[in-house]
Amino acid sequence: MKQTLNWQLASIKNVKPETANVKSFTLTLPAWMRHRAGQHYDIRLTAEDGYQAQRSYSIASEPEREGEVDITVERIGDGEVSTYVHDVLVPGDRIEVRGPIGGYFVWEASMDEPLLLIAGGSGVVPLMSMIRHRAAAGAKNPASLLYSSRNFEDIIYSSELEALINANSGLQIFHTLTRSQPPGWKGYARRIDQSMLTEVAQPLGRSVQVYVCGPTLLVESVANGLVKIGISSNQIRTERFGPTGG
Ligand SMILES: Cc1cc2nc3c(=O)[nH]c(=O)nc-3n(C[C@H](O)[C@H](O)[C@H](O)COP(=O)(O)OP(=O)(O)OC[C@H]3O[C@@H](n4cnc5c(N)ncnc54)[C@H](O)[C@@H]3O)c2cc1C
Repeated sequence: MKQTLNWQLASIKNVKPETANVKSFTLTLPAWMRHRAGQHYDIRLTAEDGYQAQRSYSIASEPEREGEVDITVERIGDGEVSTYVHDVLVPGDRIEVRGPIGGYFVWEASMDEPLLLIAGGSGVVPLMSMIRHRAAAGAKNPASLLYSSRNFEDIIYSSELEALINANSGLQIFHTLTRSQPPGWKGYARRIDQSMLTEVAQPLGRSVQVYVCGPTLLVESVANGLVKIGISSNQIRTERFGPTGG
């Protein structure tokens, strides 16, 4: 069924720094609608002269939370919208949004196949919505997150992810740090490759459902790698955030 989504004025309820370049924003929505984990909102900025800029931001929070959503935005140095969102918006401000949008890159807790989530950088945001939804719904399907960051300090949601492992939630988390690793680092220390995909995906079995999100180059190389290790393309859903993957 086709949905017509209207723009609405969301209020910024809370701003939470996640890393040096990443902040989460809680938006209160007058026309809140339950979303599906993986969906996004569009944000529209309008300048005084009428010039408008619009960008998409994935929902980070779980659908179970009513009346509000979290988005998590990485500040791109010369970016038009992400710099405004980071440098200008404070609690109490209002911003035009439209959503929830998207029907393909979504996961529901009722899908009980094993789940493999693969993220690069801020690509973890929609996957975090899935992880939070899985926890809120008490889903018991085996699930793994393979998460590639540049440095240890760039890992988004690190303490919440740590807490989920300690809570014995059935979620396994594999980090890879591609640029630098702290002393004693036990995770992976290279870009995601076929042998890493094999190690992470194999224990989840043949019916695994995979969601890959991040910069374009990472998404394409991971999707190709997954097919090469025998996962059918109809088990793989992808979402690309950036134009080049820089
Ligand atoms: C469905 C969808 C969901 C998204 N969800 C999120 C999210 O949850 N969090 C988030 O931070 N972003 C997300 N994005 C990316 C977001 O929409 C913007 O593209 C990003 O914030 C940059 O916008 P900007 O106006 O700041 O930069 P722009 O002014 O558009 O671009 C400035 C420069 O940065 C480059 N650039 C643009 N985007 C990226 C990028 N993502 N990585 C590296 N370089 C880039 C451009 O090529 C250009 O050189 C999502 C994109 C899509 C399509």
